[in-house]
Amino acid sequence: MKRAEIVKPNDPLVISEIPIPDPAANGVVIKIRYSGVCHSDVNQWTNERDYGDRVGRYTDNPQYKLPIVPGHEISGILHSLGETCCTELKIGDRVVVYPWLGCGECGYCNEDNTPLCEHRNNILGFGKSSGGYASHIAVGDAKFVIKLPDSVSLDFACMLPCSGLTTYNAVTNAKDTVERAMRYKGKSSILIVGAGGLGLWCIGMAKQVLPKTTRIVVADIKKSKLDVAKKYGPSETVLWDSASLKQDIVERTSEAGGFDAVLDFVNSKITAEIAQECLGIGGIHVMVGLYGGGANISLPKIPLRTQRIQGVLTGTVRQLKEVLKLCETGKIRAPPLTYYKLEDVMEAMTLVKNGEMTGRGIIKFE
Ligand SMILES: [Zn+2]
Ligand SMILES: [Zn+2]
Repeated sequence: MKRAEIVKPNDPLVISEIPIPDPAANGVVIKIRYSGVCHSDVNQWTNERDYGDRVGRYTDNPQYKLPIVPGHEISGILHSLGETCCTELKIGDRVVVYPWLGCGECGYCNEDNTPLCEHRNNILGFGKSSGGYASHIAVGDAKFVIKLPDSVSLDFACMLPCSGLTTYNAVTNAKDTVERAMRYKGKSSILIVGAGGLGLWCIGMAKQVLPKTTRIVVADIKKSKLDVAKKYGPSETVLWDSASLKQDIVERTSEAGGFDAVLDFVNSKITAEIAQECLGIGGIHVMVGLYGGGANISLPKIPLRTQRIQGVLTGTVRQLKEVLKLCETGKIRAPPLTYYKLEDVMEAMTLVKNGEMTGRGIIKFE
């Protein structure tokens, strides 16, 4: 099998050939067809994440060892099954992988809530577990491998366990609040911040999950990204250009009463501050983006306006199955895709690093 590894931060990934692994007793091996190039992979490669009060280095974590095969957005064909593997999956099935493994032992993991596990950093393609920048992958437990509905294509599917699942979880978190607004006010509105890959997924998810007449507004700093977003059918787009004053942007964005939910897929100082200003009474501010930094927000406003701030990190296996059901209808569209060979992965990673990737880049294996 072929694989690409991060050997040293910021050095080009190294491609090598090794034998295809055998499956663990309860696990499976998948022949990968598509593997998404995610911003988190690039953070691993550059070995830094801005936490606002400090810069985190992956290599400072004792559980994190280089070299590592990155990649956690994986779809493919079931290649082999472990000896004692209890699953309805069959060799040749088209599958997608839930990569957020957790410790596999704690209460949260047993309840299918690995985003709350203390070892939530145990992810395929992070730290110690080999990921999807490879022609094959061994997944230690078959419960993390899910068969695809016939109508869901493999290239589209590889992004579902990361961006699809995360945006679904974000929308689901806002659902009660938005439905309540619709019940009491007869109308509801959400603001999606960031028209990158996640924002595009979110428009489709919101249209399927939230009340049908919910007003969906999308904001971004780039007009070109808003032009792409318009094709996904939001009610309105608004440009948060850096030349405008913050107050002007708030005024342009806010409608009377403010938004019932703001879903921030950037989550930077400026987006968080504007989001807070645009959030209505009883509203929920869902933070998803990992841009970095800190923000100045008015603290008394939050209790005085009975608002919530909710962080969202990925989702559960159950939610991934719900996402697949939703996608089976064909009503959720993927962001524009660009395909790369494993040998050209640095091209994709560099574009993502510089914020120049339109839609999503995915590695295609033959
Ligand atoms: Zn991802
Ligand atoms: Zn756990």
